[in-house]
Amino acid sequence: MATGIGAGLIIRGRPYVGAGGTAGEIGHTVVDPGGPICRCGNRGCLETLAGSAAVVAALRDTHGERITLAEAIARARDGSSGCRRALADAGHAIGASVATLCNLFNPRRIVVGGELGAAGDLLLEPLRESLRRGAISSAADDVEVVQGTLGERAEVLGAVALVLRRGAQLAYRT
Ligand SMILES: [Zn+2]
Repeated sequence: MATGIGAGLIIRGRPYVGAGGTAGEIGHTVVDPGGPICRCGNRGCLETLAGSAAVVAALRDTHGERITLAEAIARARDGSSGCRRALADAGHAIGASVATLCNLFNPRRIVVGGELGAAGDLLLEPLRESLRRGAISSAADDVEVVQGTLGERAEVLGAVALVLRRGAQLAYRT
């Protein structure tokens, strides 16, 4: 199961891939310099704190070794405060990184897809809150954060597509 967080940057309707094709590695932006070691070798990358593996790991002691992200989301919907908290923490962490991207790119729309995105507002409300706290207010005002429609078909869980112009659909076809 993939556990990464990636961003597809869509600029003027076209995917932006960067000089070597690695643009959008938002999962490896450092959120906590003293955090866990990441598979990239750095510490405290966003995906070590907010990837699906991190969300599930945070719940193992209280909700059992075998809990999956889909179960955590279902339990959160049923009112489990622990599962809600785990998703909210992920949303806050993602929002902090996305706030930086908003300051840099001033996108119109952020589409959150993947299995983590399926949490809907349980993830997106804390994400919006943290985005608003971390981004300059004009950039925060310009952007809307919406749930994607890829769901479990997403190859990159928790994919975040930044749409700078029209072209959200294009992001989903790629
Ligand atoms: Zn990393």
